[in-house]
Amino acid sequence: MKPEDFRTHAHTVTDWMAEYLETIETRRVRSDVKPGDILKQLPEACPETGEAFEAIFRDFQDIILPGMTHWQHPRFFAYFNANASPPSVLAEMLTAAMAAQCMLWETSPSAAELEDRMTVWLRHLLGLPGGWMGSIQDSASTATLCAIIAGCERATGGRFSDEGLAGGPRLAVYTSSEAHSSVEKGSRIAGLGRANVRKIGVDADFAMDPQALRAAIARDREAGIVPACIVASFGATGLGSIDPLGPIAAIAREAGIHLHVDGAWAGSALILPEVRALAGGLEHADSFVFNPHKWLFTNFDCSVLYLKDPKTLARALSLTPAYLESVPMGESPNYRDLTVSLGRRFRALKLWFVLRSYGAEGLREKIRGHIAFTGKLAQMVEADPDFELVSGPRLALLGFRFLPQGVSDPAEIDRANDDLVARINDDGRTYLTKTRANGRTVIRFVIGQTHTEWRHVAEGWAVVRELAGVG
Ligand SMILES: *Cc1c(COP(=O)(O)O)cnc(C)c1O
Repeated sequence: MKPEDFRTHAHTVTDWMAEYLETIETRRVRSDVKPGDILKQLPEACPETGEAFEAIFRDFQDIILPGMTHWQHPRFFAYFNANASPPSVLAEMLTAAMAAQCMLWETSPSAAELEDRMTVWLRHLLGLPGGWMGSIQDSASTATLCAIIAGCERATGGRFSDEGLAGGPRLAVYTSSEAHSSVEKGSRIAGLGRANVRKIGVDADFAMDPQALRAAIARDREAGIVPACIVASFGATGLGSIDPLGPIAAIAREAGIHLHVDGAWAGSALILPEVRALAGGLEHADSFVFNPHKWLFTNFDCSVLYLKDPKTLARALSLTPAYLESVPMGESPNYRDLTVSLGRRFRALKLWFVLRSYGAEGLREKIRGHIAFTGKLAQMVEADPDFELVSGPRLALLGFRFLPQGVSDPAEIDRANDDLVARINDDGRTYLTKTRANGRTVIRFVIGQTHTEWRHVAEGWAVVRELAGVG
């Protein structure tokens, strides 16, 4: 592609992007293609000769777009939002154009030093302890893997990275039955095995029971198993439960175990001083992860890991083969020593654009809005005889069940809820997902898209009632 053609096509693409975002509400939220629909429109092999941009872009619109689920749709209430914002998108365009590998200070000093400053800005914004060092990771899953590795390194006095697990004692990780699957995945990748992940029971609010945690640690110690890491949730994925961080931190400290707090979704809400009371004890954790790519208007991927003692993780992960010897880097760390991959995208740039563009107060206002909408919706659900509020409002997440009239068998109510979610998502006007709590189906409603206003929430709720046959 010649430079002048690049310029022309870039204008075409940005015009398309602006229009896409302006008119996104007119689209259905979840794609309605059937499995294989996209694949069958794609040639079996790569073309031998280059094709014109116009043809490629037309196929993007005709073939690819129908198979997209629109995550930036303001009536997207499924999973947790992976929200973006215009300043973040603009920064990503610049990042893509420069396409730098930001693995060492020398491979882009600005990337290292901006990452340094952005993680400090976020530390202040979230009210996190002063000494914690941040690094930007691709995902919370990788960050949690890093925390588990740090825990193993500490628990074994460095044997974990020197000799591996073979021949040593078994190591165990402790988390709650509500925790995200990435805790078990990280434990498996670190070599601990699923048999050594203890899923501690939860209370009526789905939060970890500290007494059960203490007992599990004691049982393992008795059996010669070494506790390596506790992973507590600040906003678990199912229903947003918040583990009692204070009591858990006390147990971790007393037992000398690394405590990691997974705040992938809810962590962003700590920019609100009124939310911080829910995270009492977080200051005693050894590491913490949250995803600006979920609820801080910075598009995927952008996950920030804070470590109280980065040296332990760096000991486990750092290697300097001859081909990576580089110039001295001043104060900024070599972030590759704190991440799994060597190559690193320049993710700090989009954070810089977003934080400056909205300002702290602009960000707080958005998240406060989402939380307020959720509280208002919870009142409507509670007042509705055809529905039962099961959980929340917890920040911007609530869980509810449809109660079809005259049905009392819980399994039958489950089926009605499963069917309702399927009908809602096939309909396309809004998008919700479900989870299970106490063995029963619960519909989740998460409010967090950048441009969601109350009217979108009200429209989404009206669709739920209409398709339940009560609207
Ligand atoms: C979304 C989520 C994760 C996984 O986040 P990724 O960045 O996609 O790896 C982990 N933990 C919790 C609590 C989450 O909500």
